Amino acid sequence: MTTAIWWARRDLRLHDNFALGAALAHGDTVIPVFVLDPALLRANAAAGKRLAFLFGGLRALDADLRARGSRLIVRTGSPGDELAALREETGAGAIYAEADPWPYARERDAAVARHLPLAMTEGITVRPYDAISKAAGGPYTVFTPYSRAWKSLPLPVATDLRPPPDRLAAPPQLGSAPIPDGHVAAPFPPGEAEALRRLAVFAEGRNAPIAAYGDARNRVDLQGTSELSPYLRFGMVSALRASVAALSAAGDTHDAGARQSAGTWLNELIWREFYQSVLHHFPAVLAQEFQAGLRGIAWRNHRGEFAAWCEGRTGYPIVDAAMRQLTQSGWMHNRGRMITASFLVKDLLIDWRWGEAFFMEHLVDGDPASNNGGWQWTAGVGTDAAPYFRIFNPVLQSEKFDPEAAYIRRWLPELARVPARYIHAPWRMPDEVQRQAGVVIGKDYPAPIVDHALARERTLAAFKAA
Ligand code: FAD
Repeated sequence: MTTAIWWARRDLRLHDNFALGAALAHGDTVIPVFVLDPALLRANAAAGKRLAFLFGGLRALDADLRARGSRLIVRTGSPGDELAALREETGAGAIYAEADPWPYARERDAAVARHLPLAMTEGITVRPYDAISKAAGGPYTVFTPYSRAWKSLPLPVATDLRPPPDRLAAPPQLGSAPIPDGHVAAPFPPGEAEALRRLAVFAEGRNAPIAAYGDARNRVDLQGTSELSPYLRFGMVSALRASVAALSAAGDTHDAGARQSAGTWLNELIWREFYQSVLHHFPAVLAQEFQAGLRGIAWRNHRGEFAAWCEGRTGYPIVDAAMRQLTQSGWMHNRGRMITASFLVKDLLIDWRWGEAFFMEHLVDGDPASNNGGWQWTAGVGTDAAPYFRIFNPVLQSEKFDPEAAYIRRWLPELARVPARYIHAPWRMPDEVQRQAGVVIGKDYPAPIVDHALARERTLAAFKAA
């Protein structure tokens, strides 16, 4: 009898799982293991919602394994030590895990592989990180040619998908640590079944939301995006399956708009792959601006203003609504992420790394590659970044992407009664209207902490000087 270990990490699913597939091909018995690494738990201690989602995902995976005759073995400790012990206990001949481009994961995996028979598989992305390179060699650093190259390779099709195994051999008697309880409730229902359900709702059928994604995706007041990011983050649904769903939706319709919408959604999945590839090839982006010429910006780093941004007290309703969505729900709409990030960096001139770290604490989908990519893009310092002189006007963004102010009123109940003509810039409300709306600016809701026009000039000067 041969035994192999499937070391699950951020691939908490049984479908399309290359590491599990490789373990099954190797052994009659597969030991599914998740190692709770105290160093990682400590580093993420502030990210309670994400941890709760992870723990819920482990419980769901364990239930799915049990339904097939197996179970999840949970160990707590350094992965190298725990895997070595498990190998001793089971006589496993090989360990399989999905490669992760995050530098911490790569170092950890390299250290484990020095002592144990660890083999890495692909799977976080559809295209392995080094599968796409420029004709002249080297990784792409601009999205459009990267996506073109991505699409020029054989496109994923339904027959590439792998259903979960029907049955798995029961692992022998092995000790397993309890899966911790999160200190807070997971803000999204965790697990593979929920991820697949959401993907089907979003992308399958004639009137599925994917058909209207192109128009709806920027509206913060609509549920126009898939909200699958936490599930992709922890691999509860495979990127492969999401891509096949996008391509099928595009192929199954005769409506040009719907086809384009599905293509736009595929592009977002490719942005995700692009940032994973950037992190793989340029791990230094986690510490510094990708563009060497923009490493010397004289940030103001005003602590009081940073606190106001974190707490949704900047006086700009769209910024504050989005920040409260983040801190209360653990998720923020992409347009909100762009607006709040731009405000922090370009209106307050605060180092983008402060915002990146704050997002990492609060996002259930917090992912080092996508989060860093999003922040460097917005700050105008990244690979394929928005030009630094493009500075979002928070009032115009608000009017355009929350036209009825439903999003603002939802997350800022203190502004619920502010008339539509003032809600995007409530400091313009005459005193009498403030009284009628039950909100006095500067008392019940802050006055703007910066003047956007002045802040814009200050930022342009700082970026030019750098
Ligand atoms: P959809 O619009 O339905 O897109 C489908 C999937 O494509 C997403 O689930 C996500 O996996 C991927 N995707 C979409 N847009 C992007 C993008 N711009 N970059 C990379 N992947 C994308 N995304 C994260 O998953 N984790 C993060 O930590 C993260 N931090 C961000 C920080 C900033 C400052 C910005 C501007 C963006 C960040 N994003 C991050 C990207 C994006 O905002 C989210 O992926 C998206 O809002 C998730 O919502 P959704 O699942 O409904 O996306």
